[in-house]
Order: sequence, then structure tokens, then C-alpha cells
Amino acid sequence: MKQRALSFPWTELLDRLSILYGRGDWRVPYLREHAENPFQVLIGTILSQRTKDANTDRASLALFAEYPDAAGLAKAPLADLERLIRATGFYRMKARNIRACARAILREHGGIVPRSMEELLALPGVGPKTANCVLVFGYAEPAIPVDTHVHRISNRLGVLRTRTPEQTEARLREILPREYWIPLNPLLVQHGQNLCRPRNPRCELCPVADICATGLARARGERPPRPEDRRPLPAM
Ligand code: SF4
Repeated sequence: MKQRALSFPWTELLDRLSILYGRGDWRVPYLREHAENPFQVLIGTILSQRTKDANTDRASLALFAEYPDAAGLAKAPLADLERLIRATGFYRMKARNIRACARAILREHGGIVPRSMEELLALPGVGPKTANCVLVFGYAEPAIPVDTHVHRISNRLGVLRTRTPEQTEARLREILPREYWIPLNPLLVQHGQNLCRPRNPRCELCPVADICATGLARARGERPPRPEDRRPLPAM
């Protein structure tokens, strides 16, 4: 496992995906200048749990138009929040979580979203993926948000073999050089929404098929590697 992880051509992967999706040079720290509002990243990521991006976008727009910050959201009636975020599903639980989160930020952090992993994880409804999203997209701090796309594609690439996003994050922290942490999520998420979808990945159109364990196996007519495989990962 270590051999391939260490020798995996991460630069090549990010270069080719950046070109494919027209995202410019991933080495440029664009996030530092364009970091988003950390509070809205936090709440938007909680809303995005178990729903489609379009639903999250619609609900976030409606919610932040009325409650753009922790002070406003902390005082919002639950029924109003449920109405605004209904499209995201699990809206009762999410409404309770986002209001509790806003209240905790107000009470314990003076209305400013904390920027340490430990303090973020202590907020209601915040798990590792949400905390990592706040660090990367809200504060432009190196972190690795792992959602289903990052988890699935990392396994398909053959750089690790894990069963859960949490295991994937832990493993990526060990094997992925820090310079790649910030650009990895946006590029893999975009790839997962386009060519490397959950079902029927379009390997024949993929620009990284020659460095991907799944792409290489399919081109040879072999069975792609699976997380449950016990065979050692191939060396590149
Ligand atoms: S070659 Fe196939 S499995 Fe590998 S990244 Fe591309 S689309 Fe995904």
C-alpha cells in the first residue's frame, strides 16, 4: 500500500483534472483570496448532509437571505427554519442542529466560527467532513474534507483501500503531501459529479485513466480493485 501511495503521481492527477474542468492552476492559493464566509460554509455543509447540491443551494439562499449570521440564526423560530430548509430533507433535525450551532458559536466563541478542528467538532451537528470544509473553504487552512466522491475516487485510484470516509481521511492525512490537501476535494468532487460517478465511471473518457488502478484494470479487461480486496495495492 505504502509503495503506490508514495509513488502515486498526485501532481499529474491534479494538473489533468484542473485542465479538464477549467479550474486554472491548483498551485495558486486562490482560496486564500476567495475564502467564503465561514459561518455560511458551516451551516451550508450541515444542510448538504444526505441531499443533492441543488437542494442545498436553494435552501442556503433562502436561509441566508433571512438569517445571514450566528446572531440572527440563534434567535430564529424553529418553524421558520424548518420552512426555509425543507428541501434538504431531515429538515427538523437540521433546523435544530443549525440553531444550536449558532447559539453555541454566539455563547462560546463570541459569534465567530472557531478555526480549530477540536472546537469545530464540539459544535452540535458538526462531524469531521463539515469541520474540514470550514477549515478549507471558510479559512483556507489545509485540511481534507472527505465526502462520498473523495472516498470513492481515492479507492478507485488505488492509493488506499478503506471502507468509510473517516478511514479515507485518516489515510489521506498519512500519505498525501500537504501541498495537495486544499485542491484535492474540489477537483475530486467535480470529477465525481461528472466522469467518475458512483455507477458506471466513464473511464474511456477520463484523462487520468492511465494512472488510476480502476482505469488500468478496466482497460486490461480485469476486475477493478475493491476496498475489501486483500491483495496488496499495485506499485506504480
Ligand atoms: S479512470 Fe475511471 S475510475 Fe479512474 S478516476 Fe477516471 S473515471 Fe474514475
